[in-house]
Amino acid sequence: MNEQRPLTVNGRSYRWPQRPLVVICVDGCEYDYVSRAVAAGAAPFFERMIRQGTALVGDCVIPSFTNPNNMSIVTGVPPSVHGICGNYFYDRDAGVEVMMNDPKYLRVGTILAAFAGAGARVAAITAKDKLRRLLGKDLNGTCFSAESADAVAVELAGMPVPSVYSAELSQFVMAAGVGVLQRSKPDLMYLSTTDYVQHKAPPGSEAANAFYRMLDGYLARLDALGAVVALTADHGMNDKFGAGGAPNVIYLQDVLDAWLGAAAARVILPITDPYVVHHGSLGSFATAYLPATVDPGPVLARLREMQGIELALSREEGCSRFELPPERLGDVIIVASKHVVLGTSRERHDLSGLDAPLRSHGGVSEQGVPLIFNRRTRAPLAPRPRNFDVFEIALNRLET
Ligand SMILES: [Zn+2]
Repeated sequence: MNEQRPLTVNGRSYRWPQRPLVVICVDGCEYDYVSRAVAAGAAPFFERMIRQGTALVGDCVIPSFTNPNNMSIVTGVPPSVHGICGNYFYDRDAGVEVMMNDPKYLRVGTILAAFAGAGARVAAITAKDKLRRLLGKDLNGTCFSAESADAVAVELAGMPVPSVYSAELSQFVMAAGVGVLQRSKPDLMYLSTTDYVQHKAPPGSEAANAFYRMLDGYLARLDALGAVVALTADHGMNDKFGAGGAPNVIYLQDVLDAWLGAAAARVILPITDPYVVHHGSLGSFATAYLPATVDPGPVLARLREMQGIELALSREEGCSRFELPPERLGDVIIVASKHVVLGTSRERHDLSGLDAPLRSHGGVSEQGVPLIFNRRTRAPLAPRPRNFDVFEIALNRLET
């Protein structure tokens, strides 16, 4: 028997879905990708949702990276509550830099696990395996990644397992989502794609429009199968290169070494993950640990004077402004401007894998994301919702 009363998860209340709800996180989906694809006639179902449903621009969480935002979306709360503030962090107590993709770092339960625990049928499908364990934490339901799909998943998707660096990896997620919806009519489903295309192709380009045409077809099928379709993104995406096509990089470790002495400070780039080919570990957000003897004030003042630095904040200021867990960030938090990325040391970044001018994310400039639904809302929403309001809006605020 399904529990039909609203569920409270992490302090927010969610109504029981009246029909299958599919929430899609389109990785790196700057709103412009959608509007340009619609303008080009490549996305008729998106156009219908914008005209007849609900379409808004909202804010993602900062750092505008994949894991913090996917975790905010499925928990309904900011990183200060769920704890995941990057792919990677420096464990000061242990003195080691570690990946943050282990579920032990996730401090709260997910909306998905809570509904499954109350008797709902729940499915979560992700492109890359790095997210699967976090999304699947305590989830009594279907959960798999396209990257390490087994024979059952391949059969559901009706296509072979694609390369991890391909547009087809996202297509696999969408195809498998349609397969799961047809077969087992889940009450809740979460689909999370990869930003391989967005890292290479700007809005309106041929490759981008082809990707959104693909996506559009699957969204229309989910709609035709009776689902409430709710789409958002983990972050936007911007060009991060100069006139000659070379990336605009500030190598922060080199800067701090020159100011404070070699290796006195430790720069951490929370974008760092095993999949570096499309961004070379260069994003627009960094944090740095300073020696105990160094006063952060003058360092912050010098950083703020540098061209290409949008914000340089103390840990307290940055964590308060961006709702981040202070114990997982350094003494200073640095955000680069719209077309600039932050590195550690020049020699530590292998940019040989970049086969297109760098596009990346992480900063405040990539905070705007779409929130698009195939139904109208019953009452006006907050003018600037967050991407992690998507389950709340979809379950509580849409016309049925
Ligand atoms: Zn992403």
